[in-house]
Amino acid sequence: MRVHLVNPSDVSFGTAVITPRWLYVLAAATPRAFGTPAIADETLEPFDPDTVEAGDVVGIGIHTGNALRGYEVGGIARARGAYVVFGGIHSTLYPDEVRERGGAHAVVRGDGDLIWPDVLTDFAAGTPRPVYEGGKVDGESFLSARWDLLPEGKYMWGSVQTVRGCPKHCSFCSVWRTDGQKPRQRHVAAVIREIVELRRRGFRFVLLADDNFYPVTLGDLAAAERQASQSRLAALRTLREERFELMARLAELPGDMVFYTQITMEAAEDPEFLEAMRRARIRGALVGVESVTPEGLKAVFKNFNDAGEALVTRLQAFRAHGVHVLGSFIFGLPTDQPSTFDATADLAQRAGVSFAQFVMLTPFPGTVDFARWEATAAAGVTRKGVPLSRYWLIPSAQRPKVYSPHPLMSAEQIREGTQYVWDRFYRLAAIWQRSDCVRSMRSRLAFLLISKLYRQMYANTGIATDSARVTRSARRARWLAKAARRLFVTTPMPDLQEPASLRELRDSKRLAIRVVT
Ligand code: SF4
Repeated sequence: MRVHLVNPSDVSFGTAVITPRWLYVLAAATPRAFGTPAIADETLEPFDPDTVEAGDVVGIGIHTGNALRGYEVGGIARARGAYVVFGGIHSTLYPDEVRERGGAHAVVRGDGDLIWPDVLTDFAAGTPRPVYEGGKVDGESFLSARWDLLPEGKYMWGSVQTVRGCPKHCSFCSVWRTDGQKPRQRHVAAVIREIVELRRRGFRFVLLADDNFYPVTLGDLAAAERQASQSRLAALRTLREERFELMARLAELPGDMVFYTQITMEAAEDPEFLEAMRRARIRGALVGVESVTPEGLKAVFKNFNDAGEALVTRLQAFRAHGVHVLGSFIFGLPTDQPSTFDATADLAQRAGVSFAQFVMLTPFPGTVDFARWEATAAAGVTRKGVPLSRYWLIPSAQRPKVYSPHPLMSAEQIREGTQYVWDRFYRLAAIWQRSDCVRSMRSRLAFLLISKLYRQMYANTGIATDSARVTRSARRARWLAKAARRLFVTTPMPDLQEPASLRELRDSKRLAIRVVT
């Protein structure tokens, strides 16, 4: 019984930017008795069904965007006589659909870190259960990934998770509902140990793949003080101190290392935190700007963001501390107007945002928006014989790009406007102007290359309705990605040791770290 782990994707680029962490964490969770899992990441190359034999177990992780391809892989694996197990956010939300469409013998809901060995043991005994509840695993129990199984020369960045969950409640986001609002922070020593392992293998760029790297804001502390809630205040302070501890340890790692994370805009008001980020060489952060107007922010329950000039100031604060922002903007909010496209592109450039992504409002399952949309705009509507409220079951080339009627713009206007902003933000002259955030010519060229790659991978393959354009873009991205990879990886440091202060910290606190060797 061989174990296979598959990350499904409709498009393969040969080289990928970020290591898909879940594959290597589940590989670590696989007991040695079941051998080394075969890992297939379809963002690199399509899955080869011939590798699967009757009696094997095929684990497939899906989110809504790749669910349909995941079902295809599940069907193929089952037809070859394999046992099929699905996990991931989409499986957690729709276990019945996964069984019906993906040929699943079993579905894992929630975190797979601890329950995966039980799943495999049951399959080996011939007694699998239809559903396994993985729940929300404590930060202390997060597993380190099996980075020893990475294929050579395929990925640009390593990825490590330091915290799961987000205390916010944005209406378009499912993270706070699926991962919970209580931040589950991982031990500093476990995080650093894993990063050291990645650097030993030549990864100097590492994504801190967190839901929200800034789980405690100054506002949260002030509110707890006002409410004289001593226990809450103590818990928040502990979480915050652990963040500073982590950043202090990151600062001790080899000087060529660079980190990137995801954070809320409130961090811009916390100079002490930003300064610690600078020292830790956290050089980039994805910030969910979403909308440049107060009405737009209200529409997505994101009132804690700023709009207009205050927004420009906040975004510039990141840059002043050496943190480059990847701003994420949403188009198609009911409050948007035709002028919103230019206003957003202008603001992104003026605020010194280094990279940006422009997405069309999509109701994702598990979100507040989805529940509302499913009960109203999508009720009774079908496309290609599929209920609109199950749009992910429509082949991706025929899937609508806009899901709700807009009061002022047609779906095509929103799609064209979004494509226009991508084109405008990533035109050569604008990228070159933004590249002055780095010093050397080599760094400026790297900035240019990665900007073009980002656009090819995410704009042209996600927004375009023209399949020839998608194919061309995937081909260009394949070539660009191969060239870009050389700029990110470096000479391995196989003998790199953990920082001495970390060893002392671990000894003094007697931290229980789950280590997979
Ligand atoms: S969008 Fe970001 S801040 Fe809002 S709930 Fe999701 S993870 Fe948290």
